[in-house]
Amino acid sequence: MNAFENAMSQLDKAAKVINLEEEILNFLKVPDRTIQVQVPVKMDDGSWKIFEGYRVQYNNWAGPYKGGIRYFPSVDLNEVKALAFWMTIKCSVAGIPMGGGKGGVTFNPKELSKGELERLTRSFVRQIAPNLGAQVDVPAPDVYTTPEIMSWVVDEFAKVKGKEELAVVTGKPLEKGGSKGRDRATAMGGFFILQDLINKIGKKSEEIKVAIQGFGNAGGVMAALCADAGMKVVATSDSQGAIVAEEGLDISALGVHKQSTGSVVGFAGTKTISNEELLELDVDVLIPAALENQIRVDNAERVKAKYVLELANGPVTPEADEIFAKNGKKSVPDVLFNSGGVTVSYFEWEQNLANNYWTEEEVFAKLKDIIVPAFDRIWKMHEEKQIDLRTAAFAVSLERLRELWYTKAKSL
Ligand code: NAD
Repeated sequence: MNAFENAMSQLDKAAKVINLEEEILNFLKVPDRTIQVQVPVKMDDGSWKIFEGYRVQYNNWAGPYKGGIRYFPSVDLNEVKALAFWMTIKCSVAGIPMGGGKGGVTFNPKELSKGELERLTRSFVRQIAPNLGAQVDVPAPDVYTTPEIMSWVVDEFAKVKGKEELAVVTGKPLEKGGSKGRDRATAMGGFFILQDLINKIGKKSEEIKVAIQGFGNAGGVMAALCADAGMKVVATSDSQGAIVAEEGLDISALGVHKQSTGSVVGFAGTKTISNEELLELDVDVLIPAALENQIRVDNAERVKAKYVLELANGPVTPEADEIFAKNGKKSVPDVLFNSGGVTVSYFEWEQNLANNYWTEEEVFAKLKDIIVPAFDRIWKMHEEKQIDLRTAAFAVSLERLRELWYTKAKSL
């Protein structure tokens, strides 16, 4: 199955759980608008190159389309469509007033100079500008796009429109209208869910052993949050390999080691293992926070953790999901577990529109008020209907979309 077919099979499965009306289901199988553009860029040597760019506006029943822009060599329409659909589900799971969208340009960002990258971004923005706007479609960073790139988006959009509109994009640098807490929001949202899960299963933080694949923005912050709360973070990793220490890692010292050596590997008092072995450790909670497709049909049987919390996007394949269900494992899906990122992006949009900025404390308090009740609704659905948490998350999301269809979209 390709990414979009996979997304549609998840949709069909959840639609059955809530007996979703066929007319609504049919709407959700096709994006509202698919934009495909050429992105001409003048290269440093004076030549012109044309790149392929996409923006898929999947669904806006809840509010303006929302979703990142990805720069990667394998970006294609199919992938962007699937990602835009998942953004629709993610925003709906969180219950925020945003719809789903996604964009991308097909190229390898490592092969362009900074100047070329800026010209490419500005060229892409000019091409899609007629379809962007704070009340229309609000992009954000994704793979290989940064806050600085988002500030170029604001700037180029202002040139096209003749006035600056900060809320046209989120994930901006703080000095350009970004939100406090955005950099830690994804991990923080996941952490609130983990705390709630520990309560639900009647345990204490100190009894929980955690392994985290990836020590980047999402995984590194998550490791620090878990350790500060008293959990034992016994393993983590990066692209160079994984490390394990049965008595638990000192995460702040590990951060210093990673900063000075460029990797977590070689940290004093740890044993080096492979990323594959990390996934199979005897822990209570496994948090994949690196890449997609890490737990598949060939290794899912060997996963020992009872709880797999998807901080990365798509780390567990649909076949592995089935093995987990059979083995009584619970996997908290990415559309919920990493939705702290998009939720604080929505906060950034709100702050820009009101020109009123919140403290980091306020941001995280509001995030907790959104993400924990969302987890509760999904947990209830999972228990009542005896379905896995991913299907329950999709079903809860579809219930909200159905409500939006009847109260708003149907009359449009
Ligand atoms: P990042 O680039 O900061 O960190 C990625 C980490 O994965 C790094 O530690 C890197 O070394 C490691 N890694 C790379 N290749 C690896 C490999 N082969 N094996 C093991 N580890 C490897 O990225 P991030 O922002 O932390 O994102 C991680 C995941 O979380 C991605 O799936 C991303 O889509 C998802 N996510 C992130 C956010 C966010 O706000 N940062 C929001 C939603 C979802």
